[in-house]
Amino acid sequence: MNRVILWILGLILVLLLLGVIGNSLGWFDGGQTPQAPAPQTSEPSPTPTPSDPSDDGGAEQLPDEPLPTTPANPVPSDQVPVTPPAPVDFPHNAAGALHPGSGSGYLDRTVWSPDMCFPFEEAAFANSQVYGPGGYKGPPGTGQCDSPAYVLPWTDNFCESRGYTTPLCANGKGHQGQDIRPATCKKAIHWVVAAEGGTITDIGSYTVTLTASAAPHRVYRYLHLQMDQLSVHEGSVVVKGGRLGKSSNNFGGTATTIHTHFEIRAGVAGLSTDGKPVAVHTFLPPYLSLVEAYRRKLNGGTCG
Ligand SMILES: [Zn+2]
Repeated sequence: MNRVILWILGLILVLLLLGVIGNSLGWFDGGQTPQAPAPQTSEPSPTPTPSDPSDDGGAEQLPDEPLPTTPANPVPSDQVPVTPPAPVDFPHNAAGALHPGSGSGYLDRTVWSPDMCFPFEEAAFANSQVYGPGGYKGPPGTGQCDSPAYVLPWTDNFCESRGYTTPLCANGKGHQGQDIRPATCKKAIHWVVAAEGGTITDIGSYTVTLTASAAPHRVYRYLHLQMDQLSVHEGSVVVKGGRLGKSSNNFGGTATTIHTHFEIRAGVAGLSTDGKPVAVHTFLPPYLSLVEAYRRKLNGGTCG
């Protein structure tokens, strides 16, 4: 009887072991249950925006990889705002605003020679040499070297009361250019230079005439240089900014102050801004061209 019981218990033990092993090996589940396919999400996969600088075209960022730290609102170094220096300007009265009592100015707004070189190498003072200190119509008891003649602001003196034929002036007569005092009240020291490259086409007893080689072939005339110390002669070819001579007071024996009278004459016919006809060689108001050239000079521009 005991042997029968032992056999039964042994058989039960074997069956239990077979059940454990078979279950773990999947003998009783009828094979692998097919896995349902993962549901397709209807949401499109996120597309990197073109502006995302981290988009490298497909490289994946593992989720557990530490993200690079970036400063808040980084500003590219080439976009750091840099405040440019303010352009240097200088005090000057308006075009056409002449010295009180010296006549009617011409309110032209044309910059007739927009790229010219300022005709002095150094600082200079545009104002009236006739109506200013030391001028023959200037304040009584003053001298040409008095400080008011050598300070800012500049003052236009094109069309100042004179008897010269100047078609753009109100009555057809007036001062034909701009008077400019050199840096100091000393003659034959301060260099006067070519406004444009060109040829010296005439030298008179107190005049030097430069005709620009480039269209529209403006004509520049410089008066009262130190004529026995000129750097040029008739026919000389000069470059823009090239030295012509030194500012002085030569006037063919007539007294005048130390200054350079500077003219621009038209190279071609045309119209002024207020519709007046401008014939070839008409005297043009040089003031605004001088203002712009001097401003360029103050801001580091060169004449080369
Ligand atoms: Zn003059």
